[in-house]
Amino acid sequence: MPRLALRPVPAFQALPMLGLATSCGEPDLEADRYLAFQREPDGYEVAPRLVGTLEDLATITGRLGEVRTGGILLYENDGSMTLDGDRALDVGYDVQDGVAVPLDEDGLILWSFYGHLEDIADQLPALGLDGDVFFPLNSAWTPVLPDLLLELLPKENAAYATGGHFFVLLDDLFAKDVPLVANAGVIRHEFGHAVFHVLTSGGVHRRPPFAAADTSVPSLYYSSLHEAFADTFATLSLDAPDYFEDSLPMTSRDVRGDWTIDQVETPEQFHRTAGDDPLALYDPYPLGTVFASTAWDLREALGDPLEAWAILLEGTRIWVDLSTPDNAWALLDAWVAAAGQGVAAEALCASIETRFGDAVLVETCP
Ligand SMILES: [Zn+2]
Repeated sequence: MPRLALRPVPAFQALPMLGLATSCGEPDLEADRYLAFQREPDGYEVAPRLVGTLEDLATITGRLGEVRTGGILLYENDGSMTLDGDRALDVGYDVQDGVAVPLDEDGLILWSFYGHLEDIADQLPALGLDGDVFFPLNSAWTPVLPDLLLELLPKENAAYATGGHFFVLLDDLFAKDVPLVANAGVIRHEFGHAVFHVLTSGGVHRRPPFAAADTSVPSLYYSSLHEAFADTFATLSLDAPDYFEDSLPMTSRDVRGDWTIDQVETPEQFHRTAGDDPLALYDPYPLGTVFASTAWDLREALGDPLEAWAILLEGTRIWVDLSTPDNAWALLDAWVAAAGQGVAAEALCASIETRFGDAVLVETCP
């Protein structure tokens, strides 16, 4: 796949310091900060951040992993993905007053990505997760994709390769103020997939419970719960219910919405409608968003995203121990069980009643 032509990012283009770049040839390597998209309360800005875990700015290699480019993404028979023929990056940059300034948009996007990964790593202990389980986590920038995978990635431009344990990062098809790979919420969503994979499979390199090509009802429920958990991780860890909005309008993923089970297609309904059509593709996001919205309701009731996250993570662990990875309704039961008594349990039960109604009987609710 040919690389897409580089195009300027508005925020990047507006930086006055870029126009002052005068050095050429070998960059001055004495940068202690690098330019990156960073999320601020009122939106993103491109600003210097400390080099931190990013040890080599040109190859984007550091303590959290390495970003490589090119290669071909391959599906293995066991449902995992591998990468073949990738190569090291060589990001060009100048250094001005100790700040590394990338010479093209790819560098800005990928440095931003690494910064977001570092923020996640810093936060993992507070989220009750062990960084040693997840890092190093390598990434593949713009690899060649099989057609099937292209169909699976219509919305995110980033993916977590289950079993292979790496991120796939793609360039945007259309210019955005904040490229998707530079959007902290998108990266957290993908990291949430890694967490869910570890919870349900037992380790980053374990094969997933269902192969990617498996379109059975249990597999489709599992894929919806994957999306639900990924969005729950992103929205609660960042305390941002609509993290997509900084890059593109996506009200269908705003977890503050009035999403209910009767608005969405369940895997059973999909099978009845699609029949034997081999081209029919189940959209796992709408059902996932109903679950992620229930999680957000708990955050609203408690007024604390990390307190809500702790309950939901504990509930998900209870569910993994007691149930099968496709049993969506048992997950709700386990969330309520983890909430115990009081405000949290009441809030979860009220949310489940509103969003799932008669479709689900949660035995732990009054
Ligand atoms: Zn996802």
